[in-house]
Amino acid sequence: MRKMLATATFALGLLPLAVLADEPFDYEATKAQYSARDYVHAPLPERGYNYFKIAENTWFVHDDFENMVFFVTDMGVVVYDAKPDVTPFLLEVVKEVTDKPITHVIYSHHHRDHAQGAYLFPEDATLIAEADTAEFLAIANDPKRPQPDIVFDDEYVLEAGGLRLELTDPGRNLHSQDDLIAWAPDQKILFTVDMFHPDAVPWIHWGESSDPWFAFGMPDLLQEQYDFNFIITGHERIVGTPEHLQTYKDFIADMKQTLGGILQSDWYHAAMGEVQSRYDESAAHFIYKDGIMSASNACSDQMIEKWQGRVRNAPLNMVENCQTMFMHLAVLDP
Ligand SMILES: [Zn+2]
Repeated sequence: MRKMLATATFALGLLPLAVLADEPFDYEATKAQYSARDYVHAPLPERGYNYFKIAENTWFVHDDFENMVFFVTDMGVVVYDAKPDVTPFLLEVVKEVTDKPITHVIYSHHHRDHAQGAYLFPEDATLIAEADTAEFLAIANDPKRPQPDIVFDDEYVLEAGGLRLELTDPGRNLHSQDDLIAWAPDQKILFTVDMFHPDAVPWIHWGESSDPWFAFGMPDLLQEQYDFNFIITGHERIVGTPEHLQTYKDFIADMKQTLGGILQSDWYHAAMGEVQSRYDESAAHFIYKDGIMSASNACSDQMIEKWQGRVRNAPLNMVENCQTMFMHLAVLDP
């Protein structure tokens, strides 16, 4: 009996998984459940993944921290991103929710952890990528990341079976050399893969950013251009919302202000004087580095104290992010 009860409880625990393909989509309920911090800590089902709708005919599939999205159109299935770890799960989910074939797969960028699932899709599915991605894939020459069938330069609109998906190369890059922004206007779903972490601090050095100045302005750009319901960012099981993006924007503004305060403070000037007295003139690089690190460490301490609780992982990466912002604010950028 006890065993039966345990099984029943286990089965009940799994109930939300049996998300039914025909159930109408409920934005507020989805947001309340899957965009909440608690969902990051919710146990995963034994099969290692979960899935749910994030718009009508639009499904979010995730494992412990990565996700992919697919749209079921009138003609077939369109997949965004090709993560090697999530693709096998996504293929199972597609079979559960539709009989339609997978018609299109879009590369978000060339990185292995986003593209090496591409070879798992049916061979007749059309692979789409921007020109920079295609160039990197050609260099990689990796059978798991086959060359795209459709390559575009700045913009491409995929119209397939009633789905409209607008793909845009933002021109400058935030995380990789070939970032892509995708927008599904009817579903109000925005894709900025690897460029943002909802309810979290940025990944080290602003998402390993090649252009941090662009990274600092990204939330403004997205808020101006897109009235989205959800923002899909790749390495999270939590689904991003406009509120998460606003929090991120506040975080950026606060770090700028914090660093500005440090640079103008008496203690920082005193500390720099002390550093200069410690080294002789030939040690300019050591003095310079000490200056960067004292500002970054102070910024990190202050930011962690202020942001503990406002994001779920405040201590993570703070010093690296302070360091990168310091360099760009004080030295490198306008
Ligand atoms: Zn990446």
